[in-house]
Amino acid sequence: MGRLCYRSFEPGMNPNVTRVRQGNAAYLRNIINVGHGSVVEHPVLNFIFADVSRVVTHELVRHRAGTAMSQESLRFVRLDTLSAYVPLCIEENETGMTLFAKTFEQLEEVQKTLAEIYAIDDERQFAVKKKLTSAFRRMAPIGLATTIGWSCNFRTLRHVLENRTDPHAEEEIRYLFGEVFALVRDRYPNLLGDYEVEEVDGLPWVKTAHGKI
Ligand SMILES: Cc1cc2nc3c(=O)[nH]c(=O)nc-3n(C[C@H](O)[C@H](O)[C@H](O)COP(=O)(O)OP(=O)(O)OC[C@H]3O[C@@H](n4cnc5c(N)ncnc54)[C@H](O)[C@@H]3O)c2cc1C
Repeated sequence: MGRLCYRSFEPGMNPNVTRVRQGNAAYLRNIINVGHGSVVEHPVLNFIFADVSRVVTHELVRHRAGTAMSQESLRFVRLDTLSAYVPLCIEENETGMTLFAKTFEQLEEVQKTLAEIYAIDDERQFAVKKKLTSAFRRMAPIGLATTIGWSCNFRTLRHVLENRTDPHAEEEIRYLFGEVFALVRDRYPNLLGDYEVEEVDGLPWVKTAHGKI
């Protein structure tokens, strides 16, 4: 796509061009160096982030440009078991961890009790089930594990990797995008080869000297 802009597929196609960069590695390195970010909007990746919290999905949906999302509907999908990402500071503190686990157990019980009170399993009309399920979810915690499908173009992927692995970002999303980077870095070296990784608090900080493209 980038090469069609100047007909720089090979010398001779554009009388103004006598030399072209050979191969994708050199070509894309230059695109990133000079910040021609729109060219890397063409390739798109699809991810399914399973068992991430609603905290993470809420942070993720703030990224608007170059994304598409499909999120598990908690109006349609009734909660029965609740699971969660446990942040390190909770996990490392016995009292905190006990409280965290107990809260989740209690909220799980709340979901089961609500289902019994409203006899939702006996309900025949799906519209009523949906209304009740929508109401029940309001008594679920924001740390609840859920699933989101997230698509992004490569320009957006770079932006979100940089933003969300930054040490100022929250632990779970830093962990998630550290995993994303581990998945894509070797697959797409021409588009991600300028990144270096610094470990902060045991999590990767993915950064580049180029800044935003
Ligand atoms: C560490 C951290 C802390 C945060 N804390 C808070 C917080 O306390 N409260 C809060 O509300 N949010 C917070 N956010 C979310 C943040 O403010 C952004 O909403 C989020 O990171 C999305 O990024 P973005 O604005 O770059 O949008 P994206 O949709 O990812 O857009 C990418 C880029 O495209 C351009 N762009 C996109 N849309 C437009 C537009 N409409 N007009 C012009 N240019 C556009 C911008 O250059 C933008 O940077 C935080 C994010 C991080 C990483």
